[in-house]
Amino acid sequence: MTVHQPSSPEPSGPEPSSPTSSTPDPSAPEPTRRGAGPGGAGPGGAAERRELVLRAAVRRGLLDPEDALLAAFVDLDGVAASVAALHRAFPADLDVLHTFAAKANCLVPVLARLRGLGMGCEVAGPGELAQALAAGFDAGRIVFDSPAKTRRELARALDLGIAVNLDNWQELARVDALLDARESPTRSRLGVRINPQVGGGAIGAMSTATATSKFGIPLADEGNADRLHEAFRERPWLGWLHVHVGSQGCPLDLMAQGVGEAVAFAERLNAEPGPRRVVGIDIGGGLPVNFAGEATDPTFEAYVDRLRAHAPALFGGGYRVVTEFGRSLLAKNGFTAAYVEYTKVSGGRHIAVTHAGAQVATRTVFMPDAWPLRITAHHPSGGAKAGEPVAQDVAGPCCFAGDVVARARPLPLLEPGDLVALLDTGAYYATTHFEYNSLPRPAVHGFTVDAAGGVHFEPLRPAQGVDELVRADR
Ligand SMILES: *Cc1c(COP(=O)(O)O)cnc(C)c1O
Repeated sequence: MTVHQPSSPEPSGPEPSSPTSSTPDPSAPEPTRRGAGPGGAGPGGAAERRELVLRAAVRRGLLDPEDALLAAFVDLDGVAASVAALHRAFPADLDVLHTFAAKANCLVPVLARLRGLGMGCEVAGPGELAQALAAGFDAGRIVFDSPAKTRRELARALDLGIAVNLDNWQELARVDALLDARESPTRSRLGVRINPQVGGGAIGAMSTATATSKFGIPLADEGNADRLHEAFRERPWLGWLHVHVGSQGCPLDLMAQGVGEAVAFAERLNAEPGPRRVVGIDIGGGLPVNFAGEATDPTFEAYVDRLRAHAPALFGGGYRVVTEFGRSLLAKNGFTAAYVEYTKVSGGRHIAVTHAGAQVATRTVFMPDAWPLRITAHHPSGGAKAGEPVAQDVAGPCCFAGDVVARARPLPLLEPGDLVALLDTGAYYATTHFEYNSLPRPAVHGFTVDAAGGVHFEPLRPAQGVDELVRADR
């Protein structure tokens, strides 16, 4: 693994690290920081904005060294900006439905916000479907993907008019039978997920278009292209192709190449005389996120540029388009904050034991090379900590040795009562909780920052109480 460099130094306020600094100063007015907009570094940038939010969270007790040891934060202004960037990136005259992949952040208030911003929702099971419906999505704006849909789940989707992407030949036969048994036709848009077999990206577990992937119908395998062609000919209700090349670690050209394979196959089917058989292409999600710095890179624009190169027909007006982005919309719009409980030196290594570990940063703990996170150090007040960087292990509270979110990370020396922030954790972190040691789910707070620098919080998920946890497991 390449050594993961931390972010550029946080602006260090005139905050002494004397014990007095640990008492929040409720009399201090909210600092006025105009233009503390999402993104960017430096004044008014992302680092300053996080500091503002942490200070406000401490003052209002959303972070507390006994009662709220750990909490996650979602930047709702940032989410709106990311959704706007996605919408801007695709040409205005394209018939496109952007759905949000619910697994990236499945909280109902988050999904409801995204709906309000014009998104649809992609779900992969009955739980996510229930969350999407609770968030108020119209059935016609929900897409159901999963490699393991049951008969009853499929029947329900057809009843509700939810779009379904079929994963394999057996599922196709199931849907044949379900449609035969129906008294009225379904309003569901029905498609087939193909595996374009274009290969994997940097993270094997996130690469869904390898030759032997478990997802979709492998298009290049002997006989499959002809068989699928025939399947579309025989079934006028099949009208869509779906492709999702991977999540994180896949180069844009690889993803766009996968979409290119789907579009080329659609063009082959549509070249036959008669009505067009493929009316839409669902291009999946998977735009990778930059976990190494503040910049949003790659951008949706850059991806659309690669799509134009590898799949020009997608933009030719002959296809409706669905997208399913998750991480790229939420990851950089969230962070997780936790108190440092103890610090020690072991074998010469400084270790800070914090309350954020495998329960909220599961992938980072188990696959540290694939999922490094930036971490910032803060005073008990939330203010950024300054000081000579010291290599420290930032460990979690779980009782296994590997529960470390960063090793030998140069940070100002952490002390008990300080806070650490795990950056870019708005997707697939606190909302993908791992129930180790019966550690409860932390609260998730949404926030916005007004032009005067005032921070407004709104609850997205309450912290799980220990009583609730016990009730759930008996
Ligand atoms: C996970 C997944 C997505 C979203 O992936 P991101 O990397 O979060 O954008 C979209 N579509 C399907 C089918 C998925 O499995």
